[in-house]
Amino acid sequence: MPRTRRRELLVAGAAGALGARIPSAEARRRSRRSRLYDVVVVGAGLSGLIAARAVRRAGRSVLVLEARHRVGGRNLDHSIGRGKVAELGGEWAGPGQDRVLGLARELGVKTFPTHDQGDNVYYRDGQRKTYSGDIPPASPVALVEVEAAILEFNNMAQEVPAATPWTAPHAADWDIQTVAKWVADNLHDQESRDLAALAIRGVYGEEATQVSLLDLLSAITGVGGDFNTLIGSAQSIRFVGGPKQLSKKLAARLGRIVRTGTPVLAIEHGRDGVTLHSARRSFRARQAILTPPKPAIGAIRFTPQLPPAYDQYLQRQPMGSVLKVNAIYDRPFWRDQGLSGSAISTTGPVQIVYDNSPPDGRP
Ligand SMILES: Cc1cc2nc3c(=O)[nH]c(=O)nc-3n(C[C@H](O)[C@H](O)[C@H](O)COP(=O)(O)OP(=O)(O)OC[C@H]3O[C@@H](n4cnc5c(N)ncnc54)[C@H](O)[C@@H]3O)c2cc1C
Repeated sequence: MPRTRRRELLVAGAAGALGARIPSAEARRRSRRSRLYDVVVVGAGLSGLIAARAVRRAGRSVLVLEARHRVGGRNLDHSIGRGKVAELGGEWAGPGQDRVLGLARELGVKTFPTHDQGDNVYYRDGQRKTYSGDIPPASPVALVEVEAAILEFNNMAQEVPAATPWTAPHAADWDIQTVAKWVADNLHDQESRDLAALAIRGVYGEEATQVSLLDLLSAITGVGGDFNTLIGSAQSIRFVGGPKQLSKKLAARLGRIVRTGTPVLAIEHGRDGVTLHSARRSFRARQAILTPPKPAIGAIRFTPQLPPAYDQYLQRQPMGSVLKVNAIYDRPFWRDQGLSGSAISTTGPVQIVYDNSPPDGRP
């Protein structure tokens, strides 16, 4: 393709992309005539649907705008037949997660324990070892260091309120350092460092270099004060039929106020409230609640622009970068060998494995 032609196309492409984000004059005219809601919620994942329910329970009018043609967001279950699913996104709950477990009870979604009978596998540097319980058969030095680190995390977490971590006396010191920095300063054995990195990957789906120490400490407080709860029992409860049902049932109860296939592209904030623009329509509300992940909020065009500090905050909360793979076998053959199906590896691309079988153990 000649050089000038290619440049023209690039410019046209950029203008087209921009055009899609700018609501048409007709859409603006229509929005001035459209209904004024008390609240418009952006996103129909669990957060958005719960928020919409709370607004409606408070007797206010509410509308939910969801970009995708389905609800549930990062909870997505793939049907494998006969009412069974493979959870592609969110999967587990654990002790202390009372709200989601209470919601499941309220909506009639049953739970079942994650399969944990039998030995687990620990794989490191070509060596495969089996073990029972939560503690992998790492070297004694690594185990002592990891145990000391867990105790120290739990101690530090005692002064960090889960809901307002920034009020902790050492909040500033702990927020400017990453978990990776703390691990590098405090753990000296390579195996213990690898295990710490693995634990953070398991909890956050993200590298320890990207996670603030303060955030980890507030997460520990949030589950009752013990890091072990985050890494172990947080994976102990599953939802029969998959967690996406929670969103589907909530959306069904909310009814027509949940509008899918409507990505919010731009939000104008004025004296009279907010106007939210999708490609074809605009919606007015006194207030908006935004529940997309932070990078997706950052992709919305705001007028006036967001305060610089908040904009920076959105830019500094990237999505994690992990792959979840479900392998489906005719039967859980590992159980016959006395294995639980749980494995951790500090080597190679597959690092955390669970038995994700449906409740009856068959696909
Ligand atoms: C692979 C994976 C495994 C996980 N495992 C677990 C687990 O085992 N246990 C656990 O507790 N958590 C787990 N999580 C995390 C959990 O799924 C999420 O924390 C939770 O689903 C987030 O819900 P949410 O409503 O806050 O956000 P989301 O589910 O992300 O919902 C946000 C919604 O906003 C929509 N949206 C985005 N931009 C726009 C826009 N401009 N306009 C309109 N709509 C928009 C999105 O389409 C989405 O539906 C996992 C996540 C992943 C990805």
